[in-house]
Amino acid sequence: YLTIDDIEKSFAHDGNELKVLEKINLSVEKGSFVSIVGPSGCGKSTLLYLIAGLEKADSGEIKVAGNKVEKPGPDRVVVFQEAGLFPWLTVLENVTYGLRLKKIPKQEAKEKALNILKMVHLSRYVDAYPHQLSGGMKQRVAIARSLVMEPDVLLMDEPFSALDEQTRMVLHHELLEIWKKTKVTIFFVTHNIREAVLLSEKIVVFATRPGKIKATISVPSTKDGVMPDSVTLNVEQ
Ligand code: ATP
Ligand code: MG
Repeated sequence: YLTIDDIEKSFAHDGNELKVLEKINLSVEKGSFVSIVGPSGCGKSTLLYLIAGLEKADSGEIKVAGNKVEKPGPDRVVVFQEAGLFPWLTVLENVTYGLRLKKIPKQEAKEKALNILKMVHLSRYVDAYPHQLSGGMKQRVAIARSLVMEPDVLLMDEPFSALDEQTRMVLHHELLEIWKKTKVTIFFVTHNIREAVLLSEKIVVFATRPGKIKATISVPSTKDGVMPDSVTLNVEQ
């Protein structure tokens, strides 16, 4: 469903080529929840941006649902560490913004947005402005804004790392509920191995730069947002 085939990526730094990703191969089933963990600078965000079409690979190709990724599109949306909401728009307007760009009629956009905002428990805050929300609430709006586009793939780049432990736990639970409900394919980048085990079915471990896949681990467990006492991890490669 999502295939990453021999991807390589370098960036130029002070005239030097800096290799960031080397021969990345990965294949992911529709509706799966995959985490990517690895040291800082190993290219995790770069890989997400390549899938999003925000960056271009030097070689190799990425396909989503049979289509080659060539540019950004609403079928592959990114949730960043910072919510990045428009401060001059209300919660509802932030969420309908992308739909309005897609020329979805106002009433229909509003209905879709209200539905999604209910899913992230923000129904009471539709008319609030971002500065009136807590960090966790802002991140919920960012998730709602992405989901409302009905993407095939939700790309999440350390979306909860700026939040306190308590809020993070609540959002883990909510994200799993959303995942089950929407069956969206999720790529989740995190530094937190615990978070990866808790959320995902498959963990891709990156080695230090240049980023290479060191191991893929399958995580058999019931995904209800509660950390089991022990987990058996199966290292696949
Ligand atoms: P972190 O865990 O700290 O977020 P990361 O694994 O997400 O790290 P990336 O952000 O993918 O790492 O960066 C990998 C390397 O690529 C870094 O050395 C970074 O400086 C470089 N890099 C990333 N994007 C660009 C860019 N647009 N132009 C130049 N260099 C870049
Ligand atoms: Mg990063």
